[in-house]
This record gives sequence, C-alpha cells and structure tokens, in this order.
Amino acid sequence: MSKQQKKKQFYLLSLGCSKNTVDSESMAALLHNAGFRGTADPDDATVLIVNTCGFIEAARQESIDALRELAALKGPNQLLIAAGCMAQRYGSEVVAWAPGVDGVIGTRRWMDIVPFVRQLRRRKHPEPLYHLPDEATTVGTDEKGAPRTAVQGHSAYLKIADGCRRPCAFCAIPQIKGTHVSRAPEKIVAEAVALQAAGVQELIIIAQDTTDYGHDLGMKNGLSQLLRMIAMAAPDIPWIRLMYAYPGYVTDELIETMATTPQILPYLDIPLQHGHRETLQRMRRPANIEWVYNTVEKLRAAMPTLAIRTTFIVGYPGETDEEFAGLKQFVQDLQFDRVGAFTYSYEASTPSATVAWQVPQEVKEARRDELMAIQQQISLARNQAQVGRVLDVLVEGYGDGLTIGRSYRDAPEIDGLVIVPGELPLGEIVPVRIDGAMTYDLTGVPLTAVPQTITLQNVQITP
Ligand code: SF4
Repeated sequence: MSKQQKKKQFYLLSLGCSKNTVDSESMAALLHNAGFRGTADPDDATVLIVNTCGFIEAARQESIDALRELAALKGPNQLLIAAGCMAQRYGSEVVAWAPGVDGVIGTRRWMDIVPFVRQLRRRKHPEPLYHLPDEATTVGTDEKGAPRTAVQGHSAYLKIADGCRRPCAFCAIPQIKGTHVSRAPEKIVAEAVALQAAGVQELIIIAQDTTDYGHDLGMKNGLSQLLRMIAMAAPDIPWIRLMYAYPGYVTDELIETMATTPQILPYLDIPLQHGHRETLQRMRRPANIEWVYNTVEKLRAAMPTLAIRTTFIVGYPGETDEEFAGLKQFVQDLQFDRVGAFTYSYEASTPSATVAWQVPQEVKEARRDELMAIQQQISLARNQAQVGRVLDVLVEGYGDGLTIGRSYRDAPEIDGLVIVPGELPLGEIVPVRIDGAMTYDLTGVPLTAVPQTITLQNVQITP
C-alpha cells in the first residue's frame, strides 16, 4: 500500500454500548466523506481512533487498555485519538493513563472528527490536543449529514436522541452527554427509509431514554408519534424493536401504539434498576412500585405474548437484606423474560458516592448471583412456554448443519438465540416451530423446507 494511500486510512475501535456504536459509525461516515478509508488493521492506518466508554470502572479499564495497546504499536506517522465518553468525562487524565494519545475529542463533538484530525496533523508540537466542549454544551445537533445508524447484519440501530435529563444517583451519563436532545423526526424517518432500501429487516430504536423523545421539541407522546411515522414511512421493515424505556414514561398511548402497529415487536426493554421503594428513592429513580405492577399488567393485557427485558443494580449503597429480599420478590412476582443484573459500581462524581454505607464487594456479587439464579428459573419457564409456538426467526448465521437466529423475544448481543437444524437463508425471517427450551435459548424446526446441501465437516460458523 502506497504511503499516500495509507495517509488516508483510519482504524476505529468502538467500545461500550450500542449508542457508542452509532457514534462510531457516524464518525466513520464523516471520515469516508472526507476521503478516508476504514481498515480493520491498525498497522495499515495513519489515524487510530478508540471510541471509549467511561460509564463505569470496568468499561474505563477496557478503554484504557485498548489505548495503551495502540500507543505501544503506534508508529511515527500514526495519530492516536481517544474519542467517546471516557474522553469527554476525563479529558487530560486520559493522556496520563495512556501516554501516546495525540488527541482527545469529547463524545458531544463526535461530528468534529475530520477537522480535529486535520488540526492534529497540522500541529507543530508533540503536545496532545483536546476538543472538549464545556459543561453546559449539549451533544451537538449539527450532525454534518452523518447518519445516526449502525447496521449489523440485517439489523440496524437507529439513534433518536442523545443525552439524558434524569437524576439517577448512580449514573454519570448526564455529566458525560449533557441533557436529553431529541433528533429531528424528519431526519430519523429519512434514515429509516434509507435502511429499508438497504434491506434492513430489524430497526432497533435507541437513546439513553427513548421515552423522553420529543419533550424538547414540544411533542406530547413524542415517541408514539415517531414510531407511527417510522412505521408509515418504512412499511417494508418487518421488525421495529424498542429499547431503553424509562419507568413512569411508558404511557397508555405508547402501549396502544405498540399493540396496534404490527411492525413494532411485542418486546420492551425497560431498565428498572431495583424493586424496593426505599432503594429506588436513594437511587433517585421512580419509586412507585405499584406503577410497575400496573404497567406490566397493562402491557401484557395489550400484548399477551410480550417479552420484557429489564436490568437491576444489586448492592446499591445502603441496600439492606430486607431491600434485597424485596427485589427478589419483585422479580418472582413479575416474571420478566430477560434480566441483566449488575453489581453497583462506585462512581466518584455521582451522588451515590456520598451515601455512607457502601455494600461490600463480596455481598454485591453474592446478591447478583442469587438474583440471577432466581431469574434463570424464570427465564427457563418462560422459554418452556414457547414450546409448540411458531415464532418468526431472523436468520443471522449458520454452520455445522445448524442455523442461528433470533425471535422477537431476543434483542441482539444481550438476549437469547433460536437454534434450528439446516442452513436457512441469511437475513430471512422464517417461521419456526419451537420444540425445545434452554435457560436462554430455544430450538425449533423451520416450517419451510430446508435445503440439505451442506456436508457436516469443515464448515465454519459464518455470521
Ligand atoms: S435514565 Fe438514568 S441511568 Fe439511564 S442514562 Fe439517564 S441518568 Fe443514566
């Protein structure tokens, strides 16, 4: 590869959540528009970018390790840039943690990646450069024409907003991203139409808080309106999946929209974080437990086959045995399909750090394991209830005579899979009769004939 060609190559490593993945894709799109080309090999690039995650300690360490690794590999003609949430939150500390970083650009200014690269190339001194907007600045709304989407196989994440205005005491996101900023509905709808044209089968709607969509645009029930607009404009996208709903904002209007819009999957991701009133109050989270019971009941009445995903934090400061027992009872009562349980992560700059009584790490881990043991029984039972049903399955891969896919009950990367014998066409949504259940995954047989073309040995999993 010529020196000139290499000069226009970038390597981008995306860490963290699906929202960060979209920011990475947007930065990649802007670099492409500026004549750069992406490469999967850092040795072939002159611009190395790590889109970091700074949410909790474990994620920060992963980001620092990635930067250190690239800094160690970095050649004299290569630039190393730290972007994303850790860059935004810690600025110059990032360079102290990973010497060799040439530039630090905040997650709120991802859209300035191209001028920032040019500025770094023009600098006359080895000192790192910083592009970090001040506290008050929200995430930039000038997207410079970059799509706010990330296509993965036949699915695509579509970001409808950025930032968050909620007061959750354990969370640093509002400090990192600033307050909630909704994207213009016409831009979102145009991206959905473009994804439809690209043959996307599943649209995954994301933001820090999707249920807050439109409040800053003067829209009432903005999310419902937006979902209807997307479904109207992109009728050929079979699946629309809703993630990151905030408790207290799953309105009757939203439930009705989900239940009456065929493309919207009977699936809802609603992080609840805990099930005991007092813990939720200390978390500065909606603590109206009755609301959760009533809303789950309403959701299931409107969509009897609904799959609910949620997440819980165990070991939150001050969490007593009685509060944890309350959480266990809550989980047993409401029988969620999918649960992620995390141990509380001490975050110095958040209000939760000031709570006197911090739960010992071993107690946190024991509670997480105990809660997940309860949930595994529930998950298995809810999976067993699928046996005999015919579920549409989006085919995502196959190998060794087996096809791997997901049903409406499975969001990518975090939920289960459906395993089917034979080799089904990638990207197709095929009806499968479920004939077996495991804790997280299902097995089944396709209702359509499967071409028995493959030989069993020397077949690799081809996602
Ligand atoms: S809703 Fe709460 S937990 Fe979620 S991003 Fe906002 S502040 Fe953080």
